[in-house]
Amino acid sequence: MKRIFTIIVISFLFLSFKPHQKDEAITYTIAFNRDNINTAKVKAEFTPKDSILFMDYGADHLEKRWATFIHNIKAVNGEGKPITMEELPDAKWKIHAPLNEKIVLTYDVHLDHEDYEWDGGIDGVAYATGMGVFYTGRTLFIMNGEYRKNIEVDFQLPQNWQVTTLWSIKSDVASVYRVRDNNDLAKAMIFAGTHKEFSIKRDDFELVFALGSTEIINDEATYRNLAEGVLDYYIALMGGIPRPAPEDPFKKMVVVISSHPSITDGEVIGNNISILIEKDADQFSKTISRFIFAHEFFHLWNGKSFRPAGEDTEWFREGLTNYYTLKALHQVEFLNDESYLDFLSNFFYARYINDPGVGTLSMSKGEEKHEHWGLVYGGGMLAGIAQDMIIRNATNNEKSMDDLMRSLYFKYGNSSDAYTLEELQRSMSVLSGTDQSDFFNSYILGTNKIPIENYLPLAGLNASIENGNLILSKKEQQRPEQQRIMEGLFGALK
Ligand SMILES: [Zn+2]
Repeated sequence: MKRIFTIIVISFLFLSFKPHQKDEAITYTIAFNRDNINTAKVKAEFTPKDSILFMDYGADHLEKRWATFIHNIKAVNGEGKPITMEELPDAKWKIHAPLNEKIVLTYDVHLDHEDYEWDGGIDGVAYATGMGVFYTGRTLFIMNGEYRKNIEVDFQLPQNWQVTTLWSIKSDVASVYRVRDNNDLAKAMIFAGTHKEFSIKRDDFELVFALGSTEIINDEATYRNLAEGVLDYYIALMGGIPRPAPEDPFKKMVVVISSHPSITDGEVIGNNISILIEKDADQFSKTISRFIFAHEFFHLWNGKSFRPAGEDTEWFREGLTNYYTLKALHQVEFLNDESYLDFLSNFFYARYINDPGVGTLSMSKGEEKHEHWGLVYGGGMLAGIAQDMIIRNATNNEKSMDDLMRSLYFKYGNSSDAYTLEELQRSMSVLSGTDQSDFFNSYILGTNKIPIENYLPLAGLNASIENGNLILSKKEQQRPEQQRIMEGLFGALK
């Protein structure tokens, strides 16, 4: 009897600890040192799934890509015996070790990234401030096995340091985070230091801020008010917090803001935003930094709650996001009527009209959006404004682009389905009660320049083009319906 019991227990144990489940686990330990802030010491413990160690894509302009910053890399087996490693091109290494035995990999990451040029800016890479260090996951992690789950990251921090990241903390150990997969590892942003962290919650959604330098912390109230105002505006507009697709769930977004001697820039990776703001920035830089934040934030709805089926609607995803960003900045009183119109004409219209693609390329060529920002982001915005004016004018301001946003949010939120260009055209036609085929064929699918100066007068504005500039002002005498449309243009909700 006793023997049977023993056998049962053993087989039970064997079944519940299947070797392949154990093999999944990988633990990274990252140690920071306040006296040598420019070196992160990383240790990874795992059983290899194959013989290749690799870093994420990117840094293509450097011969060794992300491995440029990796030093003192070595691996040992469970008994501490060295494992032979061979460096391969493109930030990869081959290890000569059995696949069923645990290994310990150690390496240093030197925070020298600011010594190099980066197309997208240092805000999407890694940097140090007087208060700590910022890393993107792709600069920090050497990975193994494509589909690895059960990843943990343990931070060893100097006293008074903290870490801001999107990952959730493992309940029993304060410094250990659980990471869903390699993608969440590589797409992470991490700020570690004595920075200021605060968070804003609405229902199940949390926005976590890391303010990474003194100048930014001095402006904490400004950022907090701006974030709360923009968040509440988007929630009121849409009718709820973001509703992501089941395959890309998120409840949190991280925003890292630091100051920089000469740059104002922003970058989004996964559900993280990184913003650098030039010290002693002029008003334009300040506007741009707030614009970047509010723009990326709106993508949680337009982009992640409702998603385009193809690249031919990038103009809608990016352009309408620009339009709602501008509205949000007006509604939180960062912009007033004059600065709103000024930003619209002197930034967005100027970027549009000076884009060499205007008149030769269709804005539905979403794959051109980085080469032709003015055409896709700027033109898409102007197309959105024109359609909003058409709908508001046709319905005595009863209907607007807001209705289309809400209907897309409710139809596609929490689902894997996506909207199409045909659906947008149909919906806009239904909202204004007029077939919009000519508009779409001419300005969206065609290459004709959008005559925005013909649509803005519907909002009681004087609009003209002089020497390639869009000149805007309020009409002296606005009819009441024009006044209401203008308020809608500025973001007022019904
Ligand atoms: Zn965008």
